Amino acid sequence: MKIICIGRNYTKHIEELQNERPDEPVVFLKPDSAILLKQHPFVIPEFSDDIHHEVEIIVRINKVGKYIDAKFAPNYYDEIGLGIDFTARDLQAKLKEKELPWEKAKAFDGSAVIGNFLSKKDFSSIENINFELKSNGITVQKGNTSHMLWKIDELIAYVSQFFTLKIGDIIFTGTPEGVARVKPNDILEGFIEDKKNFRIQVK
Ligand code: MG
Repeated sequence: MKIICIGRNYTKHIEELQNERPDEPVVFLKPDSAILLKQHPFVIPEFSDDIHHEVEIIVRINKVGKYIDAKFAPNYYDEIGLGIDFTARDLQAKLKEKELPWEKAKAFDGSAVIGNFLSKKDFSSIENINFELKSNGITVQKGNTSHMLWKIDELIAYVSQFFTLKIGDIIFTGTPEGVARVKPNDILEGFIEDKKNFRIQVK
């Protein structure tokens, strides 16, 4: 399986990192070795002093597809979840400056937290899902899928031009504002519509 991630999909997050608003979705990949194993803590890697949490709505693909039309995209997923795209912001800044690929800063071991998946039938509208991340009990990121620059169905259409989507592939749909550095012993908890979706300890 592969993990396809979208960057810069929420205006306020683009502003907080002083990035340019993209004309098209920003896309990068994480390998399956990036998945943080269930019940495992997130261990801050030695190569970074500035790992940021990015909480994101994630989608699991359930059907093979290529050049998917946005209007048919709902046929390609039936589960929605929540995850964290851990980012080595210091390393990413260096790579961006040199216009090099981001993988070392984004796709390292443990950088993809995948929470519990919920049936999309549990939501009255995919385009109005509230989610949030708490760090040590305090809300640090809060988002709603209505604020995405590109909606889930548009993202599926876009990325499937380049990559054949396969069963089990996961799409990270971008983070809202509030990204920040994690510290050892932090407890990160993700919520979708006030229901706890995952709990991660940082080490
Ligand atoms: Mg992200």
